[in-house]
Amino acid sequence: MRILITGGAGFIGSHLAETLLDQGHDVAVLDDFSTGQFQNIRHLEPHRHFTWVLGSVRDERVVGPLVRRADVVFHLAAAVGVRLVVDAPIHTIDTNVGGSETVLRHAKASGALVVIASTSEVYGKGIQLPFREDADLVLGPPHKCRWGYAASKLIDEFLALAYWKEHRLPTIVVRFFNTVGPRQNSRYGMVLPNFVRQALANEPITIHGDGSQTRSFTWVGDVVGALTSLMAERQAFGQVFNVGNNHEVAIRDLAQMVKTIARSSSDLHFVPYSKVWDAHFEDMPRRVPDITKIRALVGFEPRVQLPDIIKRTLAYWRRADGEPAVAASRQVRSLGTPEYAATGAAL
Ligand code: UDP
Repeated sequence: MRILITGGAGFIGSHLAETLLDQGHDVAVLDDFSTGQFQNIRHLEPHRHFTWVLGSVRDERVVGPLVRRADVVFHLAAAVGVRLVVDAPIHTIDTNVGGSETVLRHAKASGALVVIASTSEVYGKGIQLPFREDADLVLGPPHKCRWGYAASKLIDEFLALAYWKEHRLPTIVVRFFNTVGPRQNSRYGMVLPNFVRQALANEPITIHGDGSQTRSFTWVGDVVGALTSLMAERQAFGQVFNVGNNHEVAIRDLAQMVKTIARSSSDLHFVPYSKVWDAHFEDMPRRVPDITKIRALVGFEPRVQLPDIIKRTLAYWRRADGEPAVAASRQVRSLGTPEYAATGAAL
C-alpha cells in the first residue's frame, strides 16, 4: 500500500515508517522538521520505496497531492510536548486543528483511510480509572494553556468521527499514552529521557511536585504494532482506541527505578510545579489506559515492560549519537521554511 505519514520524521512516525517499509509498503513522510528531525529518517533515504517531503501540514499545495496518492494516511504531525504547548498555545491549536482539517478534507476526495493521532491528555482530570474510550472527559479552564492541547486534539477526534459519520471516510482515532523509546527528544520536557540523562550524568533527578502523579509508559515498538494492526482492521473505522501500556507508576518511583537501574549517584530532587511552570499550570494526577477495546479487536498486548523500557532507554542515551540529531535538523531547515516545500525524492 501507499502510505503517507505526516510528522513522519518525529519520534513515533520514524519508527512507524521503518516498520511499514519492512512490511513492503511504499512510505512518504511529510514533516516541517520543527520538532521532527532529519536524522530520524536519514537511514531510510536509500530505500527505493521511501520518500520525504519538507512542508507544513497546513499547506494545501503540499498536503493535497500527497494525500491523493495515499491509500492510508497516518496523521501524526502535531504540536507535542507540554513545554511547547505552554509556550506556544496559538501555534499548538493552529497546527493541531488546522492540520487535521486539511488532511481530512483532502482524504475525503480520495477516500484514503486516515489514522489520527490523539492523546491521553483528552482524559484530563478524569477520576474514573483506568481511562476507557467512552469515559466523560474532564478538562480544566481555558486560561490554563495545557488544556488547549487536549481541546485541540479533541476537536481532531470529533472531526475524524464526523467525516466517518457524514461521508463514510474511513478514520481511526488513537489515543497515545506516554510513548517512549529511541529518538524521543528530551528538549520538550518528556520525563523518561530527562530522568535517564540526569541519572547518567549523576546530576539531580528533578521530580515535579511530590512525584505522586502517575503515568503509564509504552514502548514505541508496541505503539507501532498497534498502529499497523489497526490499519488492517475495518471494524476499527469510526472508532477511538487507547494505545498504551496499562502498568501505572508514580513519577517518584520511576525516578528511583531509573537511579537504581542506572547505578547512578544522582539525588532525587523535588521541584515545586511553580518553579517549572507558571502559576496556572495544572498537572494530570493519574493516567492509565484501559486497553480492553484494542485488545479485543486486534489482540494488542504491550510486550515491553517498565524495567526493560528503562534499560533500553538508558542504552540509547549511553550511545554517543543520542543528542546530535539537533544539528541535522538545522541543516534541513536551511533548505527552506515549512511553507516552501522541498522533497527528498520525486513524488
Ligand atoms: N516530570 C518530572 N520531571 C521532569 C519532567 C517531567 O517530574 O523532568 C513530570 C511531569 O510534571 C509530569 C510527568 O513527569 O507529571 C510526565 O511528564 P511528561 O512531560 O513526560 O508528559 P505528560 O504526561 O505530562 O504529558
